[in-house]
Amino acid sequence: MIPLRSAEEIEKIRNSCRIVSETLSALQELIKPGVTTRQLDTEAEKIIRSKGADPAFKGLYGFPATLCASVEDEVVHGIPSDTPLEEGQIIGLDVGAITEGYYGDHARTFAVGRIDADRQRLIDRTRESLDLAIQAARTGGTVGDIGHAVQQHAEAAGYGIVRDLVGHGVGTRLHEEPQIPNYGEPGTGPALQEGMCLAIEPMINMGSDKIFTKADGWTVKTADGAPSAHFEHTIAITANGPEILTAYDA
Ligand code: MG
Repeated sequence: MIPLRSAEEIEKIRNSCRIVSETLSALQELIKPGVTTRQLDTEAEKIIRSKGADPAFKGLYGFPATLCASVEDEVVHGIPSDTPLEEGQIIGLDVGAITEGYYGDHARTFAVGRIDADRQRLIDRTRESLDLAIQAARTGGTVGDIGHAVQQHAEAAGYGIVRDLVGHGVGTRLHEEPQIPNYGEPGTGPALQEGMCLAIEPMINMGSDKIFTKADGWTVKTADGAPSAHFEHTIAITANGPEILTAYDA
């Protein structure tokens, strides 16, 4: 069963989404060579709590931190550490918050100082593929339309699409039905309906789509060591089209 949310419920999800968006906008100002992901994590928790929310990831399934911080060839679920960021790296930050029992989920990939053109292109393409996927998230469409939009844009650039991890519904649990793959055939999968709240999150590798999980049990990395980018918005499907609840400028 895919939950359909009332306007009142969407307002609560919107509130959590605004908080995670504000959190990543604040962290963006702190990302530079020499900063550690643990410092970013500490700041993220402080910001979320100051806004009356709780970090959603901390303790969920046993994850130890507020942020997932994934550097370079780390795809997602990186654990914040004391390793300083270096000029030229890319870093994906994924953060969730919960207020009044409703979740918001959001991720962006950032540059550390100056990055090369290949990394910038990977970031741009991944963000564009999310934008295209959101445009496909309309009543009358299906989950397959969303994945197809990501797949077309990312594969046209020669990138590998992570298939083993997927987007998801968001609401009173962080991960709800439906699963939202970043590939698919138009017109296939569950029908999209007004009131669905979805986290759409392309994970795109510069090289092959193959990944593995590190011995820490969390950090997902590319098998070939090439960089990976990740963007995620929580959206609501409305009668007027998709509404991005985690807008970048919140
Ligand atoms: Mg998510």
